[in-house]
Amino acid sequence: MVRPRLQRKVSGEFNATYFKPAGIPVRDLQTINLTVDELEAVRLTDLEDLYQADAAEKMNVSRQTLGNILKSAHKKIAEALIQGKAIRIEGGVIEYVRGKFYCPECEKTFIGSETVENCPECKSSKIKSINEKARDS
Ligand SMILES: [Zn+2]
Repeated sequence: MVRPRLQRKVSGEFNATYFKPAGIPVRDLQTINLTVDELEAVRLTDLEDLYQADAAEKMNVSRQTLGNILKSAHKKIAEALIQGKAIRIEGGVIEYVRGKFYCPECEKTFIGSETVENCPECKSSKIKSINEKARDS
């Protein structure tokens, strides 16, 4: 029996979903599909410098699974960069982790990932999750 795959938690915001080498028409390119969970694993370990064990916990996967996701991601990225292929970011069994936040400086509320650190309006670092705000008042 195949065990259903657990959803992998993703808290990163990814602004771009397609990368290609400059100057080559899309029709002449091979495209590699990088899944959103693969990109999240890269974000947590390579960009935010988390240990793999901590990244695994954030994504709700085992340390070994995180290692496999990362290995696959690195291979795809290397293939794209070295062999001049395009990368499309989509898919994966994922669940976005989002929360509601409140900024006491400019009084804005906004939706952000759980790793958000600054108000998108005034860049204040004093943001609170809505639950914290409710506790204060
Ligand atoms: Zn603010």
